Amino acid sequence: MKMIIFKHAKELSNFFHLQKVKNKIGFVPTMGALHDGHIFLIEQAKKKSNIVICSIFVNPTQFNDVNDYKKYPVSLEEDIKLLEFTGTDILFLPGIDEIYPTGTTELEIYDIGFLETILEGKFRPGHFQGVCQVVSRLIKIIQPDEMFMGQKDLQQCLVIKRLLNMTDPSVHLVICPTVREPSGLAMSSRNKRLNEGQKSSAIAIHRALLYIKNSISPGQLDQIKNNAAFILAQNNFKIDYVELVDAETFEIVSTWNGKQKLAVLIAAFLGDVRLIDNMLL
Ligand code: AMP
Repeated sequence: MKMIIFKHAKELSNFFHLQKVKNKIGFVPTMGALHDGHIFLIEQAKKKSNIVICSIFVNPTQFNDVNDYKKYPVSLEEDIKLLEFTGTDILFLPGIDEIYPTGTTELEIYDIGFLETILEGKFRPGHFQGVCQVVSRLIKIIQPDEMFMGQKDLQQCLVIKRLLNMTDPSVHLVICPTVREPSGLAMSSRNKRLNEGQKSSAIAIHRALLYIKNSISPGQLDQIKNNAAFILAQNNFKIDYVELVDAETFEIVSTWNGKQKLAVLIAAFLGDVRLIDNMLL
């Protein structure tokens, strides 16, 4: 089937009403400027669904920094070609009025607990509320069976799991591993904003994650975090956090008992581009 592009929620619902059989719908929400990480999600969705829908919507309510929003890369023509080439069935390309018909000022506030107060929640106030607002609206419109998201945004995956438990327990979240450049740099739309010099510095995030993975030992974790921060600082990064958390509960871990499963997470700026990455240990 040739990819169909819908810009209006109503047209999309009509399309589903006209389907004679109940399809298994796999949904990949994105903000566009697509790369191989997004394409991997589409491929995973294709394996498990009859209809794969990708959405492209740069959601203003999840940007705590207006400049980050204004500078967010857009490459719609290439995105459409990539999605067609990958065999995506439907592209949902809503305008802001379609997602927020009553405006963006009085939107629902979701109880996502302590996830909102640590790491991305702490450094990007309001970010996860925006993510919940857009995802719950998209789910209402698309009614997917499964939603595919990247481990690249690990804390976001936990937030969405919590959201689904509260509001749409029938939607299953599939978390897909992070796709990386051969250098180790996690693919990200924001990488498009890095110049060549910054791109080679950016590899330091992956090096810092690997350093922690390979040198961690039971006991206090301060020293290892400081050493990883030093690797980043040497490569011109301005650090928001280098942190270790329990991989299941996401509680911050300062002393490791040697058994607990951990995840290490980094957020740091190169110039005005903020990059995040993580690794399960
Ligand atoms: P974004 O367009 O950045 O909002 O991302 C859309 C989805 O793609 C999210 O679920 C991300 O976690 C996922 N994603 C972004 N980068 C990668 C990557 N390098 N590997 C796998 N998934 C990714």
